[in-house]
Amino acid sequence: MYIKEISVENYRNYDELSLQFDNQINVIIGENAQGKTNLMEAIYVLAFTKSHRTAKDKELIKWDSNYAKIKGDVFKRNRSFPLEVIFSQKGKKAKFNHIEQKRLSDYIGALNVVMFAPEHLNLVKGSPQERRKFIDMEIGQIQPVYIYHLGQYQKILKQRNALLKDLQRQKQTDRTMLKVLTEQLIEHGSIVLKKRLQFLQKLREWATPIHDGISRGLEALTIDYEGSINVSEDTDLERIIETYTSYYDSIEDREVERGTTLAGPHRDDLIFYVNNRNVQTYGSQGQQRTTALSLKLAEIELIDQEVGEYPILLLDDVLSELDAHRQSHLLNTIQGKVQTFVTTTSVDGIHHETLKDAQIFNIHNGQLLSER
Ligand code: ATP
Ligand code: MG
Repeated sequence: MYIKEISVENYRNYDELSLQFDNQINVIIGENAQGKTNLMEAIYVLAFTKSHRTAKDKELIKWDSNYAKIKGDVFKRNRSFPLEVIFSQKGKKAKFNHIEQKRLSDYIGALNVVMFAPEHLNLVKGSPQERRKFIDMEIGQIQPVYIYHLGQYQKILKQRNALLKDLQRQKQTDRTMLKVLTEQLIEHGSIVLKKRLQFLQKLREWATPIHDGISRGLEALTIDYEGSINVSEDTDLERIIETYTSYYDSIEDREVERGTTLAGPHRDDLIFYVNNRNVQTYGSQGQQRTTALSLKLAEIELIDQEVGEYPILLLDDVLSELDAHRQSHLLNTIQGKVQTFVTTTSVDGIHHETLKDAQIFNIHNGQLLSER
């Protein structure tokens, strides 16, 4: 799949801009603060209807405007279709083939995007929340129904936490409602957990050999899922539900005492090991980067496996952060099969010859200066 064209209106520091892309490599060059990341973000928003760097949609609207629009033409499965996301004071609209999609899960997945930015180099060392976001976004774009269950889970979690606070402060003492919410939480949480475990199983199958390749066979990567209950990807859904049910039973008093939900997918984490040592604790910066890169490359392969086509790859400021060996590993893997967008302030830090044939866009102050 690839994006043929994107146009934005009143988006970030852009008034109006249309760009036609190469289906291989596109390089966006510009000084700091000219709009490179904004463009990457626009492609990301087209895929997910939300930004990778802010939860506040309003920030996407140009300061002096009251709406922002991003449109794109996507080529996937031998056909082209338009996507459109519009932000206004009233909220957002997402259109697939000119038709508004009311449910996010009906829109997401039309365009598959993998973003790799400097903050992802931090995926291993960063907070558990970042790692959960990573798997949630990836599963969501492969299996949109996951977004539905995760959304329901989060909604019920909020209600349950509010109720637990009330019980803690003894604003109420009856626990009937708590039981109902626990059951609903488990219903969606079990599906979320099951899908995460299955996803991780597949991701591992790609990430392990890729990591082996980048580290020239010297380092073996393993990935564990750290959950509140002890189940595996082979555990069936009923069993997961039973296990959660008895676990929540056993911690109910503690949850009331603490006034919050103490178990469930929202507290789970991923742990990475290289040669059986925890990378988060013991890994050098280079090892952490190799792990992050392996995960991103694995993600690309996994999307191809599940969706039948390679996703679009966004490399924001990250290429120049990788050494020559990792750079060429990355570029060799994607060459000829993945439409890729690279941002940089200068081509000097980029060694690889693939970039010689790339389409180059020079961006200055929210405008296209030249392309070649
Ligand atoms: P760097 O090389 O430093 O990463 P960049 O080219 O990636 O720079 P962007 O992050 O794309 O820069 O931001 C470009 C500019 O967009 C910034 O100067 C920022 O102030 C401006 N900007 C961000 N949001 C808005 C907005 N809603 N309206 C107008 N301008 C905005
Ligand atoms: Mg930037």
